Amino acid sequence: MRRQSPALRPQPLPGAEMAARLGRRLGTAHAALGLPSRRLAHPGARAQLQPEYDAVVIGAGHNGLVAAAYLQKSGVRTAVLERRHVLGGAAVTEEIIPGFKFSRASYLLSLLRPQIYKDLELQRHGLRLHPRNPYSFTPVLEARSPPRSLLLGHNVAETQRQIAQFSPRDAEVGERRGGDLWPLLQAGLVLGKQLPQSYQVLTAPISKVLDQWFESEPLKATLATDAVIGAMASPHTPGSGYVLLHHVMGELQGQRGAWAYVAGGMGALSHAIACAAAAHGAHIFTEKPVARVLVGANGAACGVALGDGTELRSRLVLSNASPQHTFLQLTPQEQLLPAFVRQVGQLDTRSPVTKINVAVARLPSFLAAPTPHDGRPQPHHQCSIHLNCEDVALLHRAFEDAGQGQPSTRPVIELCIPSVLDPSLAPPGCHVVSLFTQYTPYTLAGGRPWGEQEREAYADRVFDCVEAYAPGFKASVVGRDVLTPPDLERVFGLPGGNIFHGGMSLDQLYFARPVPSYAGYRSPIPGLYLCGSGAHPGGGVMGAAGRNAASVALQDFKQK
Ligand SMILES: Cc1cc2nc3c(=O)[nH]c(=O)nc-3n(C[C@H](O)[C@H](O)[C@H](O)COP(=O)(O)OP(=O)(O)OC[C@H]3O[C@@H](n4cnc5c(N)ncnc54)[C@H](O)[C@@H]3O)c2cc1C
Repeated sequence: MRRQSPALRPQPLPGAEMAARLGRRLGTAHAALGLPSRRLAHPGARAQLQPEYDAVVIGAGHNGLVAAAYLQKSGVRTAVLERRHVLGGAAVTEEIIPGFKFSRASYLLSLLRPQIYKDLELQRHGLRLHPRNPYSFTPVLEARSPPRSLLLGHNVAETQRQIAQFSPRDAEVGERRGGDLWPLLQAGLVLGKQLPQSYQVLTAPISKVLDQWFESEPLKATLATDAVIGAMASPHTPGSGYVLLHHVMGELQGQRGAWAYVAGGMGALSHAIACAAAAHGAHIFTEKPVARVLVGANGAACGVALGDGTELRSRLVLSNASPQHTFLQLTPQEQLLPAFVRQVGQLDTRSPVTKINVAVARLPSFLAAPTPHDGRPQPHHQCSIHLNCEDVALLHRAFEDAGQGQPSTRPVIELCIPSVLDPSLAPPGCHVVSLFTQYTPYTLAGGRPWGEQEREAYADRVFDCVEAYAPGFKASVVGRDVLTPPDLERVFGLPGGNIFHGGMSLDQLYFARPVPSYAGYRSPIPGLYLCGSGAHPGGGVMGAAGRNAASVALQDFKQK
């Protein structure tokens, strides 16, 4: 952590006063949606757009950048064309509120394939991580004083002690497994090792799987959040076990299942990948929306047309955009079979997520673990803090509300404060708070779209929930950026706001992603490939789709 000399340390101010002062200084109480964040030079920005490349990548999400880096590294002259003013897609850092740098969409790293980290020398290109230990904190709202909380970390004995507060039996489960409690808590991971015998975990509701292992509700609800994150699904929905597996299969610095904050926010990861691509010679451009994939007389892709009419020729076109945008908007429809177009149009993109990025003047102080008077961050502040997570039934009720076209009355909230480990993200003494919340339907009851009023009312409801666990939170707020599913679609191009480019349900995975018969990155148009999360293995900041697509495209390129 950055150390400050006492002379530089900000004078403590009462939270509300400081929030008001900051708000006045920054000229913002609530960040305007769609406000462009500060424009920063990006790697490869000085390149001149050429009329011809070997490969063009549509979109500079992290997967597009990974694909470009591998292609260019193999000697394929590659350009990346991004429609936004920033690189990274959903892996981006934006200074939405002056002085506060947000991981505006994704905010935690675990899934990035270790091979990519190594091949692209991401550390040499500036990638730094802040691993978290402890990693999960679930404060409980209850009548007793002080209320209890559940803190999970890599220290087995301490984690057992924490679990024993709620169920001595659950704490013993670890001992029965030879003390190997960590992988047990990562229940999906343990079962993942026995995958052939664990068909059930892939197909069962996660609530059923967890009931077989544990009895205490806060523990089961905390683990269940990873099974429904980003999915319009309840813990009682069959197949929710798979989503949990997806979220625990990562590895960071040799530690399986670990998650970390990226120093400088998630955009710093995209920046490091872009640096790697540019160092090999790739050209990377922002504010270059692609309007159309060009298809030659032979039926193969032969380049792209930009929004301003500029045409670029290339033998390979890789699309980091969603399957829906790629095949329903960018590709000439007469080149595709109606059955294929229908399948893509019918992909399930329902998404429950509203992301709220909040600038605060001081750390939240939780009833279950109050912050000391000097405001020093406590171990739990670096965790994923799970709110409205007292029991699995609460998660299910939050899901059911959305089925009625209502945002959840008590939304499931994952609160993170990355500035606790990375003070460079906020002015001294202040913090950035990420609220990953669900369930919010794309369209409200009666087909009503989200308006300003509904968006703000939902954010107020979420803030009321946080306030119940951490009184004083609302008074500390300097500004907020609320992204409902339609906002996520508009800003990031995520269809339906789906954080994975499409649901991670079993029928949309593996050889069926994005659709059966085109699950290998190739498309019905020769020379056109999908390289983003809509392709196998799906969503998350993994880079796998980008790397795999580059490998397939490279094989074809060599044979042309
Ligand atoms: C709110 C939220 C929270 C998340 N949290 C996490 C997390 O903590 N950890 C995690 O691992 N994953 C998380 N995810 C999921 C993860 O961020 C995404 O699955 C992943 O970043 C998608 O990467 P991608 O490169 O495949 O696509 P994207 O990031 O969607 O990139 C696609 C790019 O293509 C561009 N584009 C689209 N159309 C065009 C066009 N016509 N012309 C030019 N450019 C175009 C887009 O602007 C975008 O930059 C989260 C996602 C969201 C939305």
